[in-house]
Amino acid sequence: MSDVNRELLYAGKAKDIYKSENENEVIIKFRDDITAGDGAKKDTLSQKGYCNVLISAKLFKVLEENGVKTQYIELLSTDEMRTKSLEMIPLEVICRNIATGSLLKKYPFEANKELKPPIIQFDYKNDEFHDPMLNDSIIKALEIATQEELDEIREITLKINKILSDYLIERGIILVDFKLEYGKDSEGNIILGDEISPDTTRLWDSETYENFDKDIYRKGEEGVVDAYLKVVNLVLSDEEKVKWNVEQI
Ligand code: 5GP
Repeated sequence: MSDVNRELLYAGKAKDIYKSENENEVIIKFRDDITAGDGAKKDTLSQKGYCNVLISAKLFKVLEENGVKTQYIELLSTDEMRTKSLEMIPLEVICRNIATGSLLKKYPFEANKELKPPIIQFDYKNDEFHDPMLNDSIIKALEIATQEELDEIREITLKINKILSDYLIERGIILVDFKLEYGKDSEGNIILGDEISPDTTRLWDSETYENFDKDIYRKGEEGVVDAYLKVVNLVLSDEEKVKWNVEQI
């Protein structure tokens, strides 16, 4: 749909949220913009939005099929999905299966150590404060969520980790770590929102340990969209690839 005919509700760093004609629903448009370091590094890469909407829609569908409530309703086009409208909780819920990334900068972990059980960490989604890590007491004092809600978010996140790790390893991808965002629907239920894509996860080739994710861009290397296209090819079914004109690689 043309953007001039509809109301923009929110513009994020890589996605726009538009009002839908249906009550309690919104349209999420995945743009080609990519950022790193709180938005300090920015680029526009053709087909990035396409890859992320296809991967997110697919992984949300896999989660729904396994009993996880997500905001996803349907894929509308190669850059938009229709979703439930949620009141977002300003937490970045990070789950880690392997020690890498910022964990190595902040704590004396051996690089690539397997984390069993996985680590779940809550960061405050707040660029001004540079997404500081929170604990349950701070979250409750800031009135971001109650203890019951945090317990539920942890439980759902561990379930998501198991479902997606199993789904991806069958397709040759290790789910190293990822960031989720949750919101509440009009009845107050906690629902998974935002996206699950190579922008928000670390995905490694299970044989070569090569990155298929935003770390390529964070490190200033070339080929980020080619890597995202590989993920599209690995996670979508043949039928879905035909439907969405995915170039087979
Ligand atoms: P780290 O804390 O090691 O940088 O990130 C852990 C995981 O969470 C990675 O998969 C990373 O992509 C994701 N993550 C953490 N913070 C953010 C964020 O602010 N934006 C995005 N897109 N992903 C994040």
